[in-house]
Amino acid sequence: MASASTVNPFETAKKQVDIVADLIGLEAGTREVLKHPKRELTVNFPVRMDDNSYRVYTGYRVQYNMARGPTKGGIRYHPQVTLDEVRALAAWMTWKCAVVNIPYGGAKGGVVCDPKHLSKGELERLTRRFASEIAPIIGPEMDIPAPDVYTDGQTMAWIMDTYSMQKGYSVPGVVTGKPISLGGSEGRGEATGRGCAYVIREAAKDLGLRVKGATVAVQGFGNVGSSAAKILHDEQGARIVALSDVQGGIYAPDGLNPHAVEAHRIRTGSVVGFPGAQAISNEELLERSVDILVPAALESQITDRNADRIDAKILGEGANGPTTPAADRVLYEKGVWVLPDVLANAGGVTVSYFEWAQNIQGFYWPLAEVNARLERVMVGSYREVEKVASARKVHRRTAAYVLAIQRVVDAMRERGIYP
Ligand code: NAD
Repeated sequence: MASASTVNPFETAKKQVDIVADLIGLEAGTREVLKHPKRELTVNFPVRMDDNSYRVYTGYRVQYNMARGPTKGGIRYHPQVTLDEVRALAAWMTWKCAVVNIPYGGAKGGVVCDPKHLSKGELERLTRRFASEIAPIIGPEMDIPAPDVYTDGQTMAWIMDTYSMQKGYSVPGVVTGKPISLGGSEGRGEATGRGCAYVIREAAKDLGLRVKGATVAVQGFGNVGSSAAKILHDEQGARIVALSDVQGGIYAPDGLNPHAVEAHRIRTGSVVGFPGAQAISNEELLERSVDILVPAALESQITDRNADRIDAKILGEGANGPTTPAADRVLYEKGVWVLPDVLANAGGVTVSYFEWAQNIQGFYWPLAEVNARLERVMVGSYREVEKVASARKVHRRTAAYVLAIQRVVDAMRERGIYP
């Protein structure tokens, strides 16, 4: 999410490419290609507000690298969206799709706006106009947007409808994360949390940790955090001892039922105040002694300030970028088994790929099939990252980047340079 941080995310993304390029010995030309977005579109467009005035909004769509296929990535609505942030997010989408080996490149989009201060009608007009502005460069064979911060299934429905109206026929495969009634996939809602739970299970096996009865803390009880908690609890028998949201956390050493906590959150607006649980802060939650810690809220939660107090055996990154590079080094030295975001939260984009595949075939899969295919992708990708980590003796985040960037480079080499 856009933050007040002074670090330019695109500079960070380019540094990450350099680190991997040094490791795998990439020549200067390829390295330069990997550090440049292939295609960027900036649009300034008017939107009619409810009081009949007009306001001009700025939006971006960046297609970072399409060597492996059409580009894929969300669209976010946020007042602090910048072109460099969108570039960085598009680069990270490129690596995430490559880690799980789905046939996509990476993209990202954003509109500088404050959706909290827009009516539903204003949001719809903004979305439809932005969709028209980027229509020349999106499509099922070119670039497939999805929801991100402050956009959702409704936003995708408006984009799909606008694009379809322009074509003259329905094109469900132009976006993913759609409502099921418009061709959304079964299982997409919980896919990120489910994928995270699968890789945690695999890491636990390798570590000799029984997930049944293992203690789990989850920061952020939203889409990703609540799904991961429910799947770890219901399907793997883990004991969920701590949960939190933006208002604070709850702790119960004997275990929490995530379904009951969800019912409480729906009733009261927060997990805070759940009967029988002790109140803790988000900071305390991260430092609890647990077997499995799942940060599933925001970026930069585990930093050089608290990394030495993290007391977990497995860290499954549900959120994007929850661990800073300085914290990463501390966790590596402490022997924490870090499942990096590009792997641990790739279940969402994987089921987005399934949604697109179902749309273009016009043939829909039952939930059990979606989940079985997701499990195969997540477990297989986990094993490949492990292989690279042990062969190169690097930590798992670096291993995931090596695997991903190598795959992108292989595709670029096979294709060659046109003309
Ligand atoms: P969400 O909005 O559904 O949930 C976010 C949760 O974090 C909420 O419970 C919110 O209260 C909590 N939160 C917000 N600010 C907080 C703070 N300061 N301290 C503690 N908790 C706070 O969002 P989500 O879709 O679950 O996404 C969570 C993270 O996962 C993000 O980093 C997102 O980029 C990443 N992610 C999501 C998906 C997906 O499919 N939804 C896919 C990949 C990665």
